[in-house]
Amino acid sequence: MSTGMVIIGASQAGVQLATSLREGGYDERITLVDGASHEPYQRPPLSKDFLSGVVDAEGLRFRERDYYETNNIVLALGSPAVKVERVGDGGVVMTADGREYPYRRLAFANGAAPRKLEVPGADLDGIFSLRDADDAERLKASFQRTDNVVIIGGGFIGLEVAVNALQQGKTVTVLEAAPRIIGRAVGEETSEWFLQAHRKRGIRIDTDVQITGFHGEQGHVTGVELGDGSVIPAGIVVVGIGVIPRTELAEQLGLEVANGIVVDEYSLASDGQTLAVGDVANIPNPYDRTAEAMPRIRLESVNNAIEQARFAATTVAGTPAPYKSVPWFWSNQGEVKLQMAGLNMGYDRVLIRGDQDADKFAILYYRGDTLLGADCVNSPADFMAIRQALGKGKHLSPEAALSSEPLKKLFSDVVIA
Ligand SMILES: Cc1cc2nc3c(=O)[nH]c(=O)nc-3n(C[C@H](O)[C@H](O)[C@H](O)COP(=O)(O)OP(=O)(O)OC[C@H]3O[C@@H](n4cnc5c(N)ncnc54)[C@H](O)[C@@H]3O)c2cc1C
Repeated sequence: MSTGMVIIGASQAGVQLATSLREGGYDERITLVDGASHEPYQRPPLSKDFLSGVVDAEGLRFRERDYYETNNIVLALGSPAVKVERVGDGGVVMTADGREYPYRRLAFANGAAPRKLEVPGADLDGIFSLRDADDAERLKASFQRTDNVVIIGGGFIGLEVAVNALQQGKTVTVLEAAPRIIGRAVGEETSEWFLQAHRKRGIRIDTDVQITGFHGEQGHVTGVELGDGSVIPAGIVVVGIGVIPRTELAEQLGLEVANGIVVDEYSLASDGQTLAVGDVANIPNPYDRTAEAMPRIRLESVNNAIEQARFAATTVAGTPAPYKSVPWFWSNQGEVKLQMAGLNMGYDRVLIRGDQDADKFAILYYRGDTLLGADCVNSPADFMAIRQALGKGKHLSPEAALSSEPLKKLFSDVVIA
């Protein structure tokens, strides 16, 4: 008897895979196993509208309550998978509470865990990371008990939390180890603009900072010690220094792992059978297969989790389509809405459209004459135009992009080569 598909991880990628499988006519059993006991929910609002109280836990859910039952998708929540074993053509997933979920096909969609700061005092109370709804609840509650928030890591999550804290009347300091903030995702011009914008609104941001430890009293953090010996006072600390893909279970199965579970363009791991989707997967670059700068990549975004899972469903259905997509991402930092399209790796030239002083502009990244991607600040129309054009393979030369005409119009004049 077939035992269908078990998906480890009931979040953005896992739920999408289950949904796409059902929509594609997959009629075997689908079980979503997740260690968390919440019904599957979205993570992006955790550092945005959930933290500020605009959205509550109910507003985070992906689907209506009856969706899973109606679509015959079993939610096995509340106990993490701790072991996976092959049995015959399939296998069995075992959870910490002793349950067993036999499968014919297995997918990993178990995401990534926050990177920890390994310095003295890191286990003091009042030091938070932010990956799931429970983290966000704890952080939100702690905001009420402090006036002084220190964020370690000037990435998207760190900056979103920083703006949120500022808007709630806190003194906010962001400490970044690298020379510039959000440096992994955006080019220098965008980093610099965000640095100045946040400093102007009152957030202290220090770059090139080394954290050497935490100070505390009665078990609670009181300060962050820096490499130069100085101590920044802290009522609470939020550590947002990136994530590590959860690969331990894949390793148990002997699957190839290198910064994520290594998969091919059909989302198949090294055994040619198991799938991996979302933040946990190390995928062939879906945007530019010829990209010398980055032939493989691990994308941490909602868009990637959804799109890769959709393509992966075609693999299971027996009509495999190679995963291709124009990556995109957004970050809301107060009234500043950043939207990014494409990937800027290997760019050698930028072009700025719009008005940086008016907080409304787009930075276009070029390699030679080829448009690679863009960062759009408070410019949704430019973002949409660029994202759609990149998807259609339309490329606007830097000279043409200098025109003051709207990008939508400029792209409509481009003939696809
Ligand atoms: C605070 C925050 C803000 C974000 N903001 C944005 C944004 O603005 N835009 C954007 O594009 N992206 C954003 N992201 C990233 C986005 O949410 C992730 O890329 C996306 O959630 C990845 O989906 P996933 O399903 O691959 O992994 P995850 O969402 O991490 O889900 C993995 C799931 O696996 C479960 N799991 C882990 N281990 C086990 C186990 N052993 N057994 C069973 N279950 C397990 C976890 O409980 C979790 O539910 C944000 C992320 C966070 C945390």
